[in-house]
Amino acid sequence: MKRRLTLHFPREAVHQPITYRLAVEFNIAAKILRAQIAPNQSGTMVVELSGDIDELDAAELWLERQGLGLDRSLGEIRIDPALCVDCGICSSVCPSGALRFQHQEQRLTFAAALCLVCEQCLPSCPLEAISLVLEPS
Ligand code: SF4
Ligand code: SF4
Repeated sequence: MKRRLTLHFPREAVHQPITYRLAVEFNIAAKILRAQIAPNQSGTMVVELSGDIDELDAAELWLERQGLGLDRSLGEIRIDPALCVDCGICSSVCPSGALRFQHQEQRLTFAAALCLVCEQCLPSCPLEAISLVLEPS
């Protein structure tokens, strides 16, 4: 199964080879969806973890013991139809295919069920039509 997490690294943990240790010790593949970590500074990383459920649970506990903060609240991506001009730029950075540009209709479509909430599309929109809603109503 797959699980998406936002990892918050304190300064003392940024040099840890987290993805390597997850692979070797828990048999978990970690795909980095977004990372903002500068050397010797705290940072955040959005990862998609793939593995067995028991190993994912054990890995989350291990990550917390390493001093990392784990954010499991996914939130929800919203596209504001009043701002979107269907330029399609955001679809080129979407790793899951949730955002697609329909060439025939010259229109953007968003399949929320495919969205990993990796947030890569947020900075890609020149009109700021994409937002992350942390507590969807
Ligand atoms: S957050 Fe944006 S880029 Fe990431 S999967 Fe969802 S729609 Fe695609
Ligand atoms: S980049 Fe922004 S304006 Fe362009 S299709 Fe995506 S949401 Fe719409």
